[in-house]
Amino acid sequence: MTDPENNYLAEGFVGYRHDMRERYADAGLFADRPLWESVQAAGLARPDSPAVTDPAGTLTYAELYAAAAERGAGFAEWLAPGERVVLQLQNTVEFAVTLLGLLRAAVVPVMSLPAHRIAEIAHLAEASGAAGYVCEDTRPGVDYRELAAELQSRVRGVRHVFVHGDPGPHSPLPSASDHTPATVDPDEPALLLISGGTTGAPKLIPRTHNDYWYNAQCSIEATLLAPGDVYLTALPAAHNFPLCCPGVLGVLGVGGHVVFTENPSPDNTFGLIEKHGVTVTALVPALAQLWTAARTWEPADVSSLRLLQVGGALLTESDARAASVAFPGALQQVFGMAEGLINATRIGDDDEILARTQGRPISAFDELRVVDEDGAAVAAGEPGELLTRGPYTIRGYYRAEAINRRGFSPDGFYRSGDRVRVRADGYIEYVSRLKETIVRGGENIAPDDIEEELLFHPAVREAAVIGLPDDALGERTCAVVVTSGTAPSLPELRTFLLGRGLARFKLPDRLESVSSLPYTAVGKVDRKAVKAGLLE
Ligand code: AMP
Repeated sequence: MTDPENNYLAEGFVGYRHDMRERYADAGLFADRPLWESVQAAGLARPDSPAVTDPAGTLTYAELYAAAAERGAGFAEWLAPGERVVLQLQNTVEFAVTLLGLLRAAVVPVMSLPAHRIAEIAHLAEASGAAGYVCEDTRPGVDYRELAAELQSRVRGVRHVFVHGDPGPHSPLPSASDHTPATVDPDEPALLLISGGTTGAPKLIPRTHNDYWYNAQCSIEATLLAPGDVYLTALPAAHNFPLCCPGVLGVLGVGGHVVFTENPSPDNTFGLIEKHGVTVTALVPALAQLWTAARTWEPADVSSLRLLQVGGALLTESDARAASVAFPGALQQVFGMAEGLINATRIGDDDEILARTQGRPISAFDELRVVDEDGAAVAAGEPGELLTRGPYTIRGYYRAEAINRRGFSPDGFYRSGDRVRVRADGYIEYVSRLKETIVRGGENIAPDDIEEELLFHPAVREAAVIGLPDDALGERTCAVVVTSGTAPSLPELRTFLLGRGLARFKLPDRLESVSSLPYTAVGKVDRKAVKAGLLE
């Protein structure tokens, strides 16, 4: 599938190291077929069972896969295998039909979130080299068709816009018959997820047909998911957690029933749980807290819910205990990342584990390292940064060589940026994000975001961004750079960064040019040492 004519996605994609690929393959971890085929197998055996439901109605498996085949054939008339499309649909049946349609056509969806607006969508389209954009017509406060027009004026490569609903000047979601699904290399990306950083430009996470289905399978095992399960998609389905842990793809993958809703609040969802007999759902801690409280006033019968997955951010011990009382026996803590590694507590774990830990890896092939600032392993049970490698963890972000040099160890471990403790029983206690965030006038700034942009400047060879104490702002931002040739001035650099689309509050307040930067033993810029040097 590597086709230079087509600006193919393999360029910019970091695959498995050879030895690791062999090890995983020898263990029989991979299905070695397209993701959509793996997902589809169980449903094909139960054509009359309900597959997907939203407020507009239900599709059986036969109907879902017929619709997905037509959608795929439709996309194939407009787009070539390997091309990328930014997919921004809400939680509806059309999300499932369109995602499976794109996968059948081997067009690679970039899983944008409903909250994204033009800045993020344009960035995702640019960074992925997208040829298309799929969106809703409108939602309260936003007309996506206008956003699409703006996108096309900013990113010239976006040739096609497909709209769910009233397309306005664009195309409706496509449909055609008579298409043979495209062949794919299962070790190449099936889709691109979005990194979870709340600040700065989101990064693209390439997940392959093989690794993503393996992710689904391990999640299915960790949740004891079965065909009788009914899953409520309460979080935006494009997130890794509700998409594949086990989420929409895992539930379809076992022949269960996916119920979509765009409104996760208990006054809506509790009724849906009762109506459809929902057995499994996934929430972030803030929602779990709300659902827990709502048990005292919402009258609906939610006793069908056997599994309440909570993750994406830290669930406090007291909230975990309260959730366990409100939904007896149902809580599962999940600590994972779209980059790969997923940890989960297991059904039947004791109360202490459920309340105090964020689970353990879902695959026996997940490798964890907990290291100190110099990259040395900490003593067992001590806190440190979590590094991880495994059959479904990426080796690099898509088209991000500079970021990848820092974000991954030379032997392929992903640096999570999460501080954790691994207990003697193998369970993980989440401690914190590593403290690198600069807080400037109340705004949180991730130094990485600015450093990455600085490296695009032709004269900047290395960069470190640090926060320095400031009476008015709390902290102000200082860029420390190693340059080749003439060093740019601070105003020049600020103009350059603005031109790259960096928000104004992230522009450095001070610039220092140095001949070299200190690095830690693992090759990360040692921001602490840089800071100490400046404060001397
Ligand atoms: P994302 O890439 O959006 O999946 O976000 C991944 C990040 O979210 C992780 O690296 C953690 O920082 C955070 N996260 C996810 N789950 C948890 C959890 N259960 N507890 C604490 N932080 C979490």
